[in-house]
Amino acid sequence: MYKSVKLGLLPVLVLVLAGCGITLDETETQAHGTFEKGYAVAEIGELEALPDIEVIDGVTYVDDILVVNKEIPLPADYNPGLQPEVIEAYQQMFRDGAEQGLDFVLVSDFRTYDYQDQLYNNYVARDGQEAADQYSARPGHSEHQTGLTVDVGSADSASNLTVEFGDTPEYEWLKDVAHEYGFIVRYPEGKEHITGYMYEPWHLRYVGDEAEAIYESGLSLEEYLDID
Ligand SMILES: [Zn+2]
Repeated sequence: MYKSVKLGLLPVLVLVLAGCGITLDETETQAHGTFEKGYAVAEIGELEALPDIEVIDGVTYVDDILVVNKEIPLPADYNPGLQPEVIEAYQQMFRDGAEQGLDFVLVSDFRTYDYQDQLYNNYVARDGQEAADQYSARPGHSEHQTGLTVDVGSADSASNLTVEFGDTPEYEWLKDVAHEYGFIVRYPEGKEHITGYMYEPWHLRYVGDEAEAIYESGLSLEEYLDID
């Protein structure tokens, strides 16, 4: 029974490996005895956990999720605008929030490479590069260039784009429901050493259906995708 389960897994594993650009030498696997074969399957099981990384026209997808971070950039000419599914998602979230007496505002959404270039360089001129890198992305590294990211705030705008937004009733509500609309809090508290960014309760990244699993995991996107 155990053996047949393992064999049943093999075609799936081979497919996954092919996706990673690794090929399995079947002849060699078959040449081993039962014990050795079991060992080989365990190793393949570990390989299966490797992220599936694809770069299409300079845009990086990990397990089909578009990823931009301090290491992974977007091309300068990647210019999709705010995506319709994101507009629909945040508007629905704002409407549902309003029914709870909450008052959300959209603070920032899509940014072009050139706009991010201006922003970043202004911050560097004002605060120095080391400080600017804690809160601003370098051009080509902003999630806002994906068209999948929004910065949200409260109509009581004093807290907007500050960690104090994390103490507003708006955030208290959204932190546990944003995933139902396809969003994750992309730069969570306590994950600064992984994301490279300070805690940004206002910065929401749209990932669609996967948001629930990421939320339940309590991990940053990098950890969840095993690219941390
Ligand atoms: Zn943002």
